Amino acid sequence: MILLMGIAGSGKGTQGKMLADTRGFHLISMGEVLRMYVTGEQREKMLAGGLLDDQEIIALVDQVLRSLPDDEEVLMDGFPRTIPQAEWLLEQVKAGRLKLQAAFHLVASQDAVKERLVKRARIDDVEGAIEKRFEEYRRSTEPLIKWLSENGVTVTDINAERSPEAVNTDILSHLNGS
Ligand code: AMP
Repeated sequence: MILLMGIAGSGKGTQGKMLADTRGFHLISMGEVLRMYVTGEQREKMLAGGLLDDQEIIALVDQVLRSLPDDEEVLMDGFPRTIPQAEWLLEQVKAGRLKLQAAFHLVASQDAVKERLVKRARIDDVEGAIEKRFEEYRRSTEPLIKWLSENGVTVTDINAERSPEAVNTDILSHLNGS
């Protein structure tokens, strides 16, 4: 399994698609799965930029992984995003269910990504929801990245303020070297 983490607008989705296309990884985009299946109160929360409940996310990931062949190379876009999600993931690794091949943190400043988000105009790319997603990133994802490093996972920082092609080349060179 390969992990792609990063602030909203850092290009996780774009990089996920590029890697899936060129390297044949099975892409699981949490945001896309959630936008497709989540309804009601949870959907409101998601559209406002809040993170969804850890236990529900974990159950969903567990279900998706069960549906895949054991030897499938999986690329996760947007999971884990919190320490409890990462704890679950590392338990799966310890139990021998998953192998963690690489973890990438797409690093970009809020100013750099804000412009991209406004241009993209997805349903949750509106002022208030963008701010909330930035806040969730600082509150949950930044500590998670530190936690992963402290728990034996090498997280490779990638400068995500460059063109998609340059970022992709960088990720591929790390994967080829790993
Ligand atoms: P993304 O497409 O990755 O920007 O995700 C869109 C939205 O889906 C986020 O703002 C969250 O509301 C929700 N989401 C995606 N991944 C997760 C996750 N791992 N944990 C909790 N919520 C998530």
